[in-house]
Amino acid sequence: MFLVRVILFLMPFAIAGCSGGDMRSDFAVTYVANTGFLIESDDKKILVDALFGGFDSDWCYVPPDSAIDLMVKARPPFDDVDVIAASHMHKDHFNADYAIDHLLHNTKGILVCPAQVAETLSTSIHYSELRDRIRVVSLPLDSVVTITVSGVAVTAIRTAHLPTYEEDVSTGKSVDRHRDVEHLEFIFSLAGKAIYHSGDTYMNDVRKYESYGFGSETIDLAFVGWWDAREMLTFEQLLIRDVIRPERVILMHLLPDREPRGHPEREQSVAPEVYLPQYSMQTWTFPIKTEQGTE
Ligand SMILES: [Zn+2]
Repeated sequence: MFLVRVILFLMPFAIAGCSGGDMRSDFAVTYVANTGFLIESDDKKILVDALFGGFDSDWCYVPPDSAIDLMVKARPPFDDVDVIAASHMHKDHFNADYAIDHLLHNTKGILVCPAQVAETLSTSIHYSELRDRIRVVSLPLDSVVTITVSGVAVTAIRTAHLPTYEEDVSTGKSVDRHRDVEHLEFIFSLAGKAIYHSGDTYMNDVRKYESYGFGSETIDLAFVGWWDAREMLTFEQLLIRDVIRPERVILMHLLPDREPRGHPEREQSVAPEVYLPQYSMQTWTFPIKTEQGTE
């Protein structure tokens, strides 16, 4: 197991890859469920937060069995995935058995994850044969690192999980039951494009996001948790609009069987293009533009 301890405090991320010249064609995004997506360029595939499921839920979307079967067997479109990324170990983002099955069927894939995710794999009988393909990103809170994984520049930002408060029965005090969750946000550099995934974070601090490097580079696509927020522009949405400034947004972590209430046009004020996933295995294809125009 690699242990990444190269810490670049408050260092802006940099987009690796080409800008102009020999550009590849489009990049494609397939929605699996919840915050899980497959991202593809001509020569690279990234699977983020998608290897999960096997439970019933009325609070998040879960991949259908057919999609899980394709993922764990590494069958198209989930074949030859280069980077498998997991933001944190919650069951609506990661399933250790599925990840092991996928890695056994996809011998080129490298898993990038926090230590808590890697620990869930360590009891597997296959762990010893897979451990060299697990890259643990272990960072202090609010720090950033960029590593190269299977030829893909992956920026990991160690942030707090969205807090969920509950009463501690022994003290009567309100405590965040997610306070110890190791959580990563990612920026993937793919075909010269920067693709941001917010995981389950709480976007509540503009200066912090500026310090991560947002605002200095173009974010071509942002996956952001949305829940239920069309009634007004929330602080999170203003942060996305004013700091992340993505060319396009795909909303994620949607609530099952409930259309977001309110005004769809409020979404459009956050980014020029906003997409709402409708069904598992829905695919979007986005053109890659150069200074000369669309190729
Ligand atoms: Zn979570």
